[in-house]
Amino acid sequence: ATPTALMVGTGRGAQLGILIKGPEALESTRSIDTVVLDKTGTVTTGKMALTDVITTGDTSVEEVLRLAGALENASEHPIAQAIAKGAAERLGRPSMAPGPAGTEGVGVGRDTAHPGMADPFPKVEDFANVEGLGVQGVVDGHGVLVGRPQLLAEWSHHLTDDLERAMTEAQALGHTAVAVGWDGEARAVITVADQVKPTSAEAIARFKAMGLRPVLLTGDNEAVARTVADEVGIEEVIAEVLPADKVDVVKRLQDEGRTVAMVGDGVNDAAALAQADLGLAMGTGTDVAIEASDLTLVRGDLRAAADAIRLSRRTLATIK
Ligand code: ADP
Ligand code: MG
Repeated sequence: ATPTALMVGTGRGAQLGILIKGPEALESTRSIDTVVLDKTGTVTTGKMALTDVITTGDTSVEEVLRLAGALENASEHPIAQAIAKGAAERLGRPSMAPGPAGTEGVGVGRDTAHPGMADPFPKVEDFANVEGLGVQGVVDGHGVLVGRPQLLAEWSHHLTDDLERAMTEAQALGHTAVAVGWDGEARAVITVADQVKPTSAEAIARFKAMGLRPVLLTGDNEAVARTVADEVGIEEVIAEVLPADKVDVVKRLQDEGRTVAMVGDGVNDAAALAQADLGLAMGTGTDVAIEASDLTLVRGDLRAAADAIRLSRRTLATIK
């Protein structure tokens, strides 16, 4: 490969909204046959909104919003931000958006409190983010859990039949449902809806036309993942993968002889992006993901991933 031809390629890339880290990045695209796509924030907007709160027993919706909202207000996860914002609005208090607000004295690997900003929620103590599962902490003297049923089960909070049904129904609609529990009991299900980016289906169609096989990879539930996959035309779905295991999925595909491009946006995706033969980060995503990648899609439009692969194939063909 001549440096000049590659520079032309990277210049054209910038026009298309693709930032290329180094010329080596382009070399690998020749043999790529698989594109692994993170779901949340990559195929979907990642801008979720709280849609529903389903409670059981004598638990009130307001109590759920107060306790779960307080906890999620301390987390940066898109689900958490949707719940905190929706809870603040429904409780008739000013929204904390944009972005997560700090919670005093609980900074676990996250920003500290925004000084001077009134916190609409009760104080949280012993906050912990359990990667890929949810959040936990003490609010108003209650040990509160918000997240996947597995997280609640670890603390022997088991879902009632009506809460299980609420989760299943929400997931069938493609909504993400998280469970809420405190003091030994599962008490509610909160549903949040994300939206598929309007450009995702077209991007997937382009991948396929180029002979690339799209794979949807997510920590989210299988039913939600399938609904999203169907909507954009992806057949292969790998769901309920813990953040630390995403890199193993990429390795496994490589062991099967596939050459893998990975597109992601989150902190969770960084190791997988670095492991992939070509890592593409959403420019709208986290810095960690961008640093781990070879290419950045400036506008967060998945079609630019197809452009990037096509462009580099063409650039390499010109060089030969
Ligand atoms: P993705 O791979 O789709 O980006 P994650 O790996 O970040 O998703 O999270 C996987 C699942 O863990 C979520 O779908 C949700 O059920 C649960 N979860 C993670 N963080 C939180 C949180 N802060 N609040 C509630 N649920 C969470
Ligand atoms: Mg993501």
